[in-house]
Amino acid sequence: MILLVHMLFGSAIGYTVYSLTNQIWLSFLLAFLSHYFLDLFPHIEYLASTEDSVKKLKSKSPKEYLPDLFKVIVDFLSGILLIYFVSIDQPYIYFCAIIAILPDGLTVINSLFEINILKKHHYFHGKIIHFLKYKKISKFWRISTQATAFIISIYLLLL
Ligand SMILES: [Zn+2]
Repeated sequence: MILLVHMLFGSAIGYTVYSLTNQIWLSFLLAFLSHYFLDLFPHIEYLASTEDSVKKLKSKSPKEYLPDLFKVIVDFLSGILLIYFVSIDQPYIYFCAIIAILPDGLTVINSLFEINILKKHHYFHGKIIHFLKYKKISKFWRISTQATAFIISIYLLLL
C-alpha cells in the first residue's frame, strides 16, 4: 500500500487512541500495527516490488533507481504535507506516521543487508500479511480499499 495512506492512517489511529486514552505508548503501538492491518486488504502498489527497487538501487545507476526513488519521496512528502493540513499538527502525530511505515522500512533494510530477524519479518510482512497480493482482484477494489482508508483517516484527523 502507498506510504501516504499508511502515514495518514497511522497518524489518525495514533491521534484517536491518544485522544481517547491519553496513552502515548498505546497510540504508538497501534499506529505501528495499523500498517499490517491495512496491508491485509487488497491494494495496488506503484513499485513492482521492494526487492526490485533495491536491486535498482544496488546497480548504482541513477537512471535505474531515480524514478523509483522520486516516487517514494513524492509519496512520503505528500503524506507529511497532508497530515500538516488536516491534523492538529503535534509532533506525536508525525511520529505515528513514521512508525506506521516502519514495516516497509524494515523490508528495505532486509533487502539491502539480509539480517536474519528481518528475513523473518519480511516473510511475515511480505507473504503472510500480503496473502492477497497474487489473487485475482480487480484494480477497482485494490484502489477502493486505499481510498476508503484515506477518507476514514482524514475524517478521524479532522475530528
Ligand atoms: Zn507494507
